[in-house]
Amino acid sequence: QAKTQGQNHYQFFSEKLQHEVEVRLHREQMVRRAVAEDRLWLAFQPQVCARTGKTMSFEALLRWPKGWGTPLSPSEFVPVLEDTGLIEQVGFQVLMQAAVFAKELERVTGAAYRMAVNVSMRQLYGSGLYEQVAQVLAATNLAPDRLELELTESATMVDLETTVKTLTSLRQLGITIAIDDFGTGYSSLNYLRRLPVDALKIDRSFVTEIGNNRETEAILHSLLSLARALRLKVIAEGVENARQEKFLRKAGCDLLQGYRICRPAPTGTILDWLEQQKDSSEEHS
Ligand code: C2E
Ligand code: MG
Ligand code: MG
Ligand code: MG
Repeated sequence: QAKTQGQNHYQFFSEKLQHEVEVRLHREQMVRRAVAEDRLWLAFQPQVCARTGKTMSFEALLRWPKGWGTPLSPSEFVPVLEDTGLIEQVGFQVLMQAAVFAKELERVTGAAYRMAVNVSMRQLYGSGLYEQVAQVLAATNLAPDRLELELTESATMVDLETTVKTLTSLRQLGITIAIDDFGTGYSSLNYLRRLPVDALKIDRSFVTEIGNNRETEAILHSLLSLARALRLKVIAEGVENARQEKFLRKAGCDLLQGYRICRPAPTGTILDWLEQQKDSSEEHS
């Protein structure tokens, strides 16, 4: 009897495991196909000045092919790109397309917006990033200070010495660096002092708590004064309502990004959105 039960148990786990393996394999196949057929695309989300509301910059965000069933989020497929090494190639395309769109925005609007591009851990510690950035700047003629790389706090912490070297050389190209999802990676203040970066992006989990949690609000205040002391620009991500917006503006946050301002959208929608913003600011002035 005990033996039979044991066997059932074993069978149950192995079926579950097998199912998980199949799901993962299927996902990997889909991701490989999306890359091979060049079907991944970029959405863009504006970042606005907290004081004036003026659009200053955009973040490029990868999107799953339209019409391919239930869309996978980048948090689901970017890890697959990392594991398979495809991120090298896709990361380069993302940099290039984001820079090309930044130039198009410049041509259409006459304003030089900054473009922020996410860089994953494998890209940061791989050997190709510097060359890729240099190549993109040369090919598009984008002013280097209009390009910002976003690296997560946890990625930069894997190997501080290598990170410092890589970021120092990238910054010599004239581009800027932001630490993404800041506040979630347990980095020490001393560590932050050593990182050659220009901006911090406060993680959405803090922004969500504004209005509900006094401790988080206190952390945000001290984070913003720390950033001021280190002369770092601060961007808040995931701003969804007026209360959060007001708090962040009063606390001295520099840039706001989130559904409250605009959802990530394809290039055409972004151009329309900018046009609308222009109209409404003219009405008000
Ligand atoms: P992230 O860089 O922290 O990007 C912010 C995420 O918050 C995005 O999720 C964005 O769509 C979402 N977001 C923006 N405003 C709001 C809001 O008001 N409320 C809520 N609930 N969410 C908001 P997304 O697009 O699903 O991307 C998830 C993550 O995938 C990104 O986090 C980034 O780490 C990664 N990722 C996206 N695109 C790329 C890429 O081109 N390369 C690499 N390496 N990673 C990417
Ligand atoms: Mg980001
Ligand atoms: Mg983020
Ligand atoms: Mg995030």
